[in-house]
Amino acid sequence: TLSGNLGSVFDRLRGRGALSEADVREAMREIRVALLEADVALPVARDFINRVTEKAVGAAVLKSVKPGQQVVKIVNDELVAMLGGDDAGAADAAPLNLDVRPPAVVMMVGLQGSGKTTSTAKIGKLLKEKQGKKVLMASLDVNRPAAQEQLKVLGEQVQIATLPIIPGQQPVDIARRALEAARLQNVDVLMLDTAGRLHVDAALMAEMKAVAAVATPAEVLLVVDALTGQDAVNVAQNFSDEVPLTGVVLTRMDGDARGGAALSMRAVTGKPIKFAGTGEKLDAIERFHPARVADRILGMGDVVSLVERAAEVIDKEEAEKAAQRMMKGQFDMNDLRMQLNQMQKMGGLGMLAGMMPGMKKAKAAMEASGVNDKVLVHMDAIIGSMTPKERARPELLNAKRKKRVAAGSGTSVQDVNKLLKMHQEMGRAMKQIRKMGGIKGLASLLG
Ligand code: GDP
Ligand code: MG
Repeated sequence: TLSGNLGSVFDRLRGRGALSEADVREAMREIRVALLEADVALPVARDFINRVTEKAVGAAVLKSVKPGQQVVKIVNDELVAMLGGDDAGAADAAPLNLDVRPPAVVMMVGLQGSGKTTSTAKIGKLLKEKQGKKVLMASLDVNRPAAQEQLKVLGEQVQIATLPIIPGQQPVDIARRALEAARLQNVDVLMLDTAGRLHVDAALMAEMKAVAAVATPAEVLLVVDALTGQDAVNVAQNFSDEVPLTGVVLTRMDGDARGGAALSMRAVTGKPIKFAGTGEKLDAIERFHPARVADRILGMGDVVSLVERAAEVIDKEEAEKAAQRMMKGQFDMNDLRMQLNQMQKMGGLGMLAGMMPGMKKAKAAMEASGVNDKVLVHMDAIIGSMTPKERARPELLNAKRKKRVAAGSGTSVQDVNKLLKMHQEMGRAMKQIRKMGGIKGLASLLG
């Protein structure tokens, strides 16, 4: 993966006391290869390397105390810029500009199967739950049978009204009717889910233009599949030639091992990625934060996203307590138990490993010792069979106590040992976060 490839280059750079210009150029060659392997567009990779090299071979950097770290920082800053982080305050501004006379129309466009309908419901849910907006959703997809019903079903799941379906009505007329209904019902945001095609074609573009002319959307979001890599970027370019896109929703980021689409999107199309889809569930969507994605690519883990996600599923008070305990370097079996439960809710082991620094190693260690998502359930039972004292001080667990706990939880001593090992690994990961200073952000987020 890109993060793995870059990670090893950076580990080497960071470890160096003195760097020569040749060292930097060699590292840049490796980074260039890693970017191309990740399906980053060639001109984008080339520009990137040129910019970084220019800054990194400067005498001030090479003669500094920690040149390797400086170079890593330059790469990081350029990555953030490449991902679209150059907007002033972009990380904090609301991703959508809905500051118009209501109803603000959000039009979702894209190819068939890119995730438009799912993303419509996900974003509608965010707007309703996070911003208290009254939302109405309407499907203009008359091409695919049952497409309109699909949105209706999703609407029921997220408890957002959908425009009643009138069979045979055409997209532009549906858009008109949706606007009318939105006005009558004092709707804040009208989400228009549109039809896609297998490829960008003239008929699709004409339809999108006609709908946009009627709906005058505040936001036109292009939904593209991150797994299609460079194709996603090409599709974005084609669309933006025809309809005034305001942003991109990159779906299937959960399966995107390479990251090329995210990296090239801004540079090639000039359009910001506003949201990332991270799964099939209707809360599997995140605001796109360039700085955090850059961190993740650099293998530093995405602590802030992880904590935000945790804060959503964990009871806030509990989370605050846990954060405080972590800060103090305390992390006992009760904390681990809570973590295990949350881990399950957050999508299991794999999800966590990609986000948390140190967790990659922890995950590898866990897997090596046979831990997987199923085993996590057993672990909860094991902790349940410990006495309060043992939970607070796991080092008390000698062979005799382990036997008792194993019997009580219907597991084996080996399983108990696995859990203890995992607890140690996680404690180590927490320490790593503390060292990074990430816990400060964590505490303020939860507080
Ligand atoms: P549309 O044709 O553009 O409307 O696409 P749909 O919204 O119907 O989505 C097609 C499929 O992709 C569905 O099975 C979705 O559950 C799935 N999907 C959408 N977004 C994501 C995502 O971010 N991650 C994953 N793993 N699947 C997604
Ligand atoms: Mg659809």
